[in-house]
Amino acid sequence: SRPHPPESPTSSQIYLSDQIVELFEACRQQPSDLARKEMCRSRLQQDINRVYAVARLYLTGSSMNELGCRSSDADLCLVIKGNVSKAASLLFSLLPVYIEKTQLIRAKVPILRFREKGSNLEFDLNVNNTVGIRNTFLLRAYSYADRRIKPMILVVKKWARHHQINDASKGTLSSYTLVLMVLNYLQTRKEPVIPSLQMDYPECFNPFVDVDLVPEGPKRIPPYISRNQAPLGELLLGFLEYYAIHFRWDKYVISVREAQVLPKTNSQQWKNKYICVEEPFERNNVARAVHEKAKFDAIRAQFAESFHILKQRRDLNSILPIRDII
Ligand code: ATP
Ligand code: MG
Repeated sequence: SRPHPPESPTSSQIYLSDQIVELFEACRQQPSDLARKEMCRSRLQQDINRVYAVARLYLTGSSMNELGCRSSDADLCLVIKGNVSKAASLLFSLLPVYIEKTQLIRAKVPILRFREKGSNLEFDLNVNNTVGIRNTFLLRAYSYADRRIKPMILVVKKWARHHQINDASKGTLSSYTLVLMVLNYLQTRKEPVIPSLQMDYPECFNPFVDVDLVPEGPKRIPPYISRNQAPLGELLLGFLEYYAIHFRWDKYVISVREAQVLPKTNSQQWKNKYICVEEPFERNNVARAVHEKAKFDAIRAQFAESFHILKQRRDLNSILPIRDII
């Protein structure tokens, strides 16, 4: 028979916390996954350099920010000087024999999506969207600020994907938006779990520093010692509750840059938007994909439903509560 958790008031929270750590350990990107992505990146960079001698190709996103899982795609940013559309068409012709299923996604930032031939490794390449390099290393610094950050974010990403609210191309939340929402929840507790790293270490996140130097910037940031030592299970429950019940979507902008929520102004980027999440460097709305009321309602409803299920399981001291929401 299944073992019963010990009967202390927080026992199921400890159980839940253990499950989150277990899930994280099982799903997190492995060094071998990164090595494979890096190998493909450097091969591609060499091919591109035959045409563009000074071009540089950077791995960004969850492959580099420590918040990826084994199945995460590889985000790439190609940095070139000069005419971007000329470079893009050149890229198409150049894309060599070892990649396949190439498609151009005409988003605000156009993306070239392709797969490494014969494998399931997917790449999303943009040209000159260097803010992605800056914010990747900001997120990476947050992932090291407290040992709870990585498992917390990974479980939230899994949860959102499971419930189909993690797809900006379908009008729901991008992973990047979700990560900023988790960080801001942790920043705005009465005892913050993490501070604003941009405010505490402005010299490490100077938005004007050359992109080549960005990866070196945050290396000297020590871990943050918070008075809030709430277990992971409690933080996950609190995160769901916060966005299900407490957060006023109509009034506030989520700002990781300031470690606060900011009043929504009438400016174009916040006006009539259901969800406002500020990009930490460019200060535009990263959640602008959520433009349908029905999708917004579905997202909120999912926060509420998962919160109530998890809370009920916790109150019942039930075993394996996390499987009820993921
Ligand atoms: P996953 O593991 O699901 O692939 P991810 O962390 O890679 O998640 P994505 O939403 O795929 O997150 O975004 C990849 C990267 O692209 C982000 O880490 C960020 O650097 C950049 N990015 C995504 N959306 C934006 C945006 N709206 N503004 C600026 N940069 C963005
Ligand atoms: Mg990605």
